[in-house]
Amino acid sequence: MKIVVLGAGSIGSLFGGMLARLGVNVVLIGRERHVRAIRERGLRLKDEKELVVDVKATSNPLDAGKADILLLTVKAYDTKAAALDAKPLMKRDTLVLCLQNGLGTEGEAAEILGKSRILRGVTSEGALLAAPGIVYHTGRGETIIGAPFTSLPSKVEEIVELFNEAGFDTRTSDFIEGDVWTKVLVNAGINPIGAITRLKNGEILKHPQLVEAMKVLVKEGVQVANKCKISFTENPVNKTIHVAKMTAENKNSMLQDLEKGKRTEIDYINGAIVRYGAMVGVDTPANLTVTAIIKALEERQRSREA
Ligand code: NAP
Repeated sequence: MKIVVLGAGSIGSLFGGMLARLGVNVVLIGRERHVRAIRERGLRLKDEKELVVDVKATSNPLDAGKADILLLTVKAYDTKAAALDAKPLMKRDTLVLCLQNGLGTEGEAAEILGKSRILRGVTSEGALLAAPGIVYHTGRGETIIGAPFTSLPSKVEEIVELFNEAGFDTRTSDFIEGDVWTKVLVNAGINPIGAITRLKNGEILKHPQLVEAMKVLVKEGVQVANKCKISFTENPVNKTIHVAKMTAENKNSMLQDLEKGKRTEIDYINGAIVRYGAMVGVDTPANLTVTAIIKALEERQRSREA
């Protein structure tokens, strides 16, 4: 099985690297500096110990050849452009696994690549591209895969087996939309609050008013989700508090993006809750407010750099 990773940054390099280590035929498509470092010194994956993985890497999608599985690991806002890049890599039966955070990336990929090949994944693994060629495995958690538009293709079992062999605790889901929403709601609660206050996840919990604010963000999202016929097995508010506790030392990705002067995924998290809310007639003033604040912070950062 040939797996092409499109968007080999933090999480894509981690998954691609660990799969290549198993002997799977993997091609990473990433940015030139990262690719050059991998070609010169191998991909360095740092966990408890450092692994150096020999894996094919290119910055030109056309060099990757056709894929059996395409792992889409770009940031949510890059999905459409990446899906266009992925078009020449498609065979009739190529499956595309969107392993991103945020609402709606699978729909954007499906518009360009076709619904029948789209899989959706949610992962709680953590990774950080620390320097070109060097990726830290920063956290461990479950990976869940489902088919949002079709019944689960049989090849998914093979993917799940490979991921587990590579060290990722992975299972399938019959209702991946619920899993995607659950992660979005956790991110919708923690990320903007941490990004605005610049607090680590655990520090947020020391401020009762911030905990209240997180709860309001998540509760609005739950109302929208319920109207979209999404129900939850675990209370998303409790889950958000639990995740913040478990990741107390982490700076969330939105805060990290702002600190690096990068665009955040707010449009696919709180911004998406606002958009979906408008579609189903649920007001989402708290999510609208944090979306506006984060977008203003992004713009301020951009104008400082210009
Ligand atoms: P990342 O480190 O920014 O990696 C994405 C990489 O893809 C970047 O190097 C980006 O380059 C590159 N890229 C973008 N478009 C490309 C294209 N058309 N061709 C080749 N390369 C392209 O982001 P990440 O942290 O891995 O996150 C990816 C997704 O996974 C996000 O939705 C995130 O929320 C989700 N996720 C991440 C983690 C984690 O721990 N990192 C965990 C769970 C889920 P530029 O930066 O130059 O655009």
